Amino acid sequence: MISKVVFQSAVLAASISFITAASASPQAKISNAKPEAIVIPSAVRGPVPVVQTVSAEINNVAVNSNTSAITSNVTTPAAVVAATTVKSTVLILARDTASSYSGYSGLNGYAIPYQVVVVPQAGVTLPNLNSSATSGNYGAIVILSEVSYDYGGTLGFQSALTSAQLATLYQYQNTFGVRMVRLDVFPSADSGTTALGDCCGDGVEQLLSISDTTKFPTSGLKTGAGVSTQGLYHYPATITNSSIATEFIQFAPAAGFSTTSTAGVINNIGGRQQMVFFIGFATDWSATSNLLQHAWIHWATRGLYTGFRRVNLNTQVDDMFLESDIYSPNGTTFQITPADLAQHVTWMATVNAKLNAGSNYFVEVGHNGNGNIEVIDFDWIGYSKNTHVTLGFHCWHLECGSGPIEYGDQIDTPLEFQKPLGTGTNLWPANALLYPYTTVCTNLDALKIWWATPANRDVFAHVSHTFTHEDENNATYYDVTREISWNAAWLSQVGIASASKFSPKGIIPPAITGLHNGDALRAWKDNGIVNVVGDNTRPALLNTQNEHWPLITTVTANGYDGIQITPRWATNIYYNCNLPDCTVLEWINTSAGKGDWYALLAVEKNTNTRHLLGLHHDPFMFHQANLNYQTASETVINGVSTKYSMLQAWVETVVQEMIRVVNWPIISLKHDDVSNLRLPLHGHILTPRPQIATAFASRMARDACGASLAFNVDPTAQTITGVTLTTTGNTCSTTIPVTVPGAVTSTQGFRTEQIGSDPLTIWVQMSGLPVTFTLSTPISL
Ligand SMILES: [Zn+2]
Repeated sequence: MISKVVFQSAVLAASISFITAASASPQAKISNAKPEAIVIPSAVRGPVPVVQTVSAEINNVAVNSNTSAITSNVTTPAAVVAATTVKSTVLILARDTASSYSGYSGLNGYAIPYQVVVVPQAGVTLPNLNSSATSGNYGAIVILSEVSYDYGGTLGFQSALTSAQLATLYQYQNTFGVRMVRLDVFPSADSGTTALGDCCGDGVEQLLSISDTTKFPTSGLKTGAGVSTQGLYHYPATITNSSIATEFIQFAPAAGFSTTSTAGVINNIGGRQQMVFFIGFATDWSATSNLLQHAWIHWATRGLYTGFRRVNLNTQVDDMFLESDIYSPNGTTFQITPADLAQHVTWMATVNAKLNAGSNYFVEVGHNGNGNIEVIDFDWIGYSKNTHVTLGFHCWHLECGSGPIEYGDQIDTPLEFQKPLGTGTNLWPANALLYPYTTVCTNLDALKIWWATPANRDVFAHVSHTFTHEDENNATYYDVTREISWNAAWLSQVGIASASKFSPKGIIPPAITGLHNGDALRAWKDNGIVNVVGDNTRPALLNTQNEHWPLITTVTANGYDGIQITPRWATNIYYNCNLPDCTVLEWINTSAGKGDWYALLAVEKNTNTRHLLGLHHDPFMFHQANLNYQTASETVINGVSTKYSMLQAWVETVVQEMIRVVNWPIISLKHDDVSNLRLPLHGHILTPRPQIATAFASRMARDACGASLAFNVDPTAQTITGVTLTTTGNTCSTTIPVTVPGAVTSTQGFRTEQIGSDPLTIWVQMSGLPVTFTLSTPISL
């Protein structure tokens, strides 16, 4: 019950006023609602309970089902549209909080307002659907698995919604012109279909593809691209009543199904419209579910919503200039060469050439300047030993100061170790005060010469990874100050700080340490660092309120407040590997991996297209050794064999899958822009609209504004003529996105964004009053 109350506090502030005032339902008792569609975050989300199947026989076909057909014997609603205004908030009816994630996670990705109502087996009182005869409270209705429960005996699985409640929902749909989405439904005459059976046994694949996007063109989904249904229980169907049912997704032939079959239909039943999926949804692990959600989101909203869709692919490469100890062969080391890097310049152009219109992909690099000085130290030793000339000795002292910063091995702390403030031992020399190295010194390294060349440098984005990569969990303020300031001095000296894409306000913490060390965080802040990336494998570094928000440090949890931790994904391309055999071995030994390089890439494809299709903007972690190209072998991707570094193979695997299934642009952001958007982006992001505004900080800020959109309806013409945007107090510190399926008569001077084949988004700055847009072409209900 507690979790239910917490969950229901996710209602929108804007809609809570009338729910509280007008409804006698349990949902109405929530009064301290957060001003946004706050949800259960991935970090604390529970596993979806397993619902056992029961066997049934339909048309002599035996099937197992753990959902139900649409409830029959529901009173047919009157076909009248009386609405003049309808809030766009999406009402989601789910069995429990855990499974509701598959209903709201996509909406949360867009930041489209929604409200979840949990329907237990005993039933529930519906929230007030409308606040007057002409004012609707929900712009769409989503039902998961028919909120069915096994009532046993001859009843079997039945919806916990009564026929009368469904009649109420149906009448609301017709009165207010609202669409319904039913996820995970058993085919039946009520959707104009009949089941052909169920599918599939263990290990049996039946591909699903989108067969018709004409009713949701703004989704940007591609037709005919088969995606996996493995692990998703589904019911191949055939349409038996084409007067009410139109197929939009279909199953491919599979064992037991010799022809294609229908996977979902759009129904128009006497004017009442619903989209029905004969497949379960699991957006927490299935890339397919994350793809399909865009079909229903764009159909149900008609592509008209407050919210925004963007895919940011940010690949960060840590440890540049450092030498990495390689996992296998054990005892070997690897450092990237200019030849490896030069090939990545060429390759990035080929990636951008194949991406969808409006895309801009680039690699971001995290630098450790001490590695530049260490190479010179090594050269001096070799030089002096081989030639016995004093010039080398002379050079080292005069041009490279006291040489690189070196210290003994550090003792590992527990992962989330919180250092008592003021403790720890300085590892840096006491005389390490001002940055001592000259350009003559840094130029003795061919890698530095390559990076300092603007034509190379400006293809990549750049950020500091600290000077020496000292572990900062137990580090002192003295050491961390130098780790930041010396690397900043080095980045300036070698010209990287002048790169077209450089992030001066962020760092990648070394091995993501120091995040509970108040002295380290204070040293970061004192040296201009206000945002860092975290590690999504560590729950302590995730925002527990919303997975699309960054975590802001506090004195209690982190020893210092106000530093932004932007979430970052780890991959199975390990930091200490330069070739596939190494990373496959480490995957098997440390992460329960099974199989070869292609098995690993298949896991990466599913996992990371799921993240991207779920509209997560978290960067992905890579390391310098992963860019080894010179000694790499060929990797076959989609039938084409090409020599790739591991980073390249990973990116190619992910982006080729993305462009196979969607028409969307893919855009990289540099570190500070991902973390903490400051506009304009210096004009260096090569997109028509530089203000991409998908950054984590601005997302959290605008979610706090409680945006709500209302459709303005002409009941005579039965059209949506425009929308009205409101926020709490009609103010907001940042702009709010309104996305429309076509054009509006006036964008009122607000910034607009439309990239590639994407729909138009208007970024609205609220200034005390609601903002109304009139659609150039009204939308028929
Ligand atoms: Zn590192």
